Amino acid sequence: MKPPRANGFRDSWCGELSAARADAPAQVAGWVHRRRDHGGLIFIDLRDRSGIVQLVFDPEDATEAHAQAHRLRSEDVLSARGTVVRRAPENVNPNIPTGEVELRVAHAELLADADTPPFPIDEDGPVEETLRLTHRALDLRRDRMRRAIELRHTVNRTIREHLSAQDFLEIETPILTRSTPEGARDFLVPARLQPGSWYALPQSPQLFKQLLMIAGFERYFQIARCFRDEDLRADRQPEFTQLDVELSFVEEDDVIAVTEGVMAAVFAAGGFDVAPPPWPRLPYDEAIARYGSDKPDTRFGLEIVELGAALAGTQAKVFADTLATGGVVRGINAGARDLSRAELDKLTEVVVRYGGRGLAWAFVQDDGSWRSPLAKFLSADEVVAATAALDGAPGDLLLAVADRAHVAAQALGALRLELGRRFELIPADRHDALWVTDFPLFEWNEDMRRWDPKHHPFTAPVGVWEDPGQLRSRAYDIVLDGVEIGGGSIRINRPEVQQQVFDELGISAQDAQERFGFLLDALRFGAPPHGGIALGIDRIVALLAGEESIRDVIAFPKTASGSDPLTGAPAPVDTAQLDELGIRLADAAKHPAG
Ligand code: ASP
Repeated sequence: MKPPRANGFRDSWCGELSAARADAPAQVAGWVHRRRDHGGLIFIDLRDRSGIVQLVFDPEDATEAHAQAHRLRSEDVLSARGTVVRRAPENVNPNIPTGEVELRVAHAELLADADTPPFPIDEDGPVEETLRLTHRALDLRRDRMRRAIELRHTVNRTIREHLSAQDFLEIETPILTRSTPEGARDFLVPARLQPGSWYALPQSPQLFKQLLMIAGFERYFQIARCFRDEDLRADRQPEFTQLDVELSFVEEDDVIAVTEGVMAAVFAAGGFDVAPPPWPRLPYDEAIARYGSDKPDTRFGLEIVELGAALAGTQAKVFADTLATGGVVRGINAGARDLSRAELDKLTEVVVRYGGRGLAWAFVQDDGSWRSPLAKFLSADEVVAATAALDGAPGDLLLAVADRAHVAAQALGALRLELGRRFELIPADRHDALWVTDFPLFEWNEDMRRWDPKHHPFTAPVGVWEDPGQLRSRAYDIVLDGVEIGGGSIRINRPEVQQQVFDELGISAQDAQERFGFLLDALRFGAPPHGGIALGIDRIVALLAGEESIRDVIAFPKTASGSDPLTGAPAPVDTAQLDELGIRLADAAKHPAG
């Protein structure tokens, strides 16, 4: 940090005082981090954003300041002036950058008193989260939070610098807008000036960034706030931040190359060791087959293996029935493991939780035969073939699931992650970035009995328009350490193709015109081929910071239930305010606690 402008409060940062400044005067300001009263001398660790420096108050040479120091308490705000002195060798603190010196205080001024904080600021111990969020200003004073927020700034700055250097323009898009197409529920804002009408908060700037391409800006980005009123899951926020990017006259490779450039810069700035791009690309079908997931964690093996051929003619009923009805048998070689029945039951629970009917297990014995409840139903040849398919060796635990293809994939994908965690196979210091490509265009929604877009309805299709289930899309996701950190696509730039997709989704021309008419109209006036991506900044910063929860990298987040203990939002409003908006609450909404 550059030295602060000298004023009545300070001329130096706390963290900047070092042996090079010994014997020189200095003035610092900050918060009382810790105070130690040694009868005679009083030591105060003073903290500002730059770090901590030790102040010494000596009753002999600064009686008044010493008397004042006597009354200081944690988190009081103080300005102190004095001389930087070297500490005696035995008092040097190698753990802080200013540990070789201390400021011998001649004069101090108390700038503000602090009540006793509800939790300690000077240590990183666990504090109940609601308490932290209620007193967020204090929580943000803690070292770990300060570092996370600084890192977040570094990420944002790196993005801006990197993309600006490549001719991208940062353009803001509206927050008060119409429903956008990401498929979640909208947050609505009543329009006072047009009673009965509502703005929607954007789920993403998707339509606006496409309009910006049609407008000819060619290269756009925005660090954009997005709002989705989704059912709450552990680590979701109703509002979150995306790096939103769009380019014109591009194909998949172009968007991927730009994204790799900016993300490699972000990883480097965050001190995160990822192999330099280009990053591997995995077609969706292969990701599902090998990892049981469209966001595979490739930092460890345990890949899923197809066992259908090995067991083709089997008499074993579980396998034979599944194969005969178009299902699959797939397995994982868990390696040389010695698990008890109870532990195997736990693994079965994982499979069942993810929709599977059950888990078959076998230990390969020294002679190649299996110790397994299934052994007696399989021929020796089938055992040999299945073991070979799984690359099994004596001692190995082989696991298999027989089910419909998507269930087997999902269950084995979950099982694989569980095994990775349980056997600690995920190296702490390795990070893998990769792309998943060639997604299906649509996804069958069994509840609603209709096709939904896998990405969003503006994604360009690939393939012949016969079976919607067979169509692929020009979408891509970027995955880091098994977490989807972003996704995007090449878009549809011709109105007739756009209408074809709407038709398949059951969106009538009239409906489409009503909801997305402004985009459809613009598409008719010469839309360049374009495409882009959005990356989740909260999640990326959390991964870089090594934090589990995105709440720990957002200055003012909501709780998992969508409320804000700091401000009390969401909160009821006056009837007068509602009247003005022409809104009357249903009885149920008046008594939410019921
Ligand atoms: N708008 C998309 C999203 O928010 C990203 C994109 O297609 O660029 O997921």
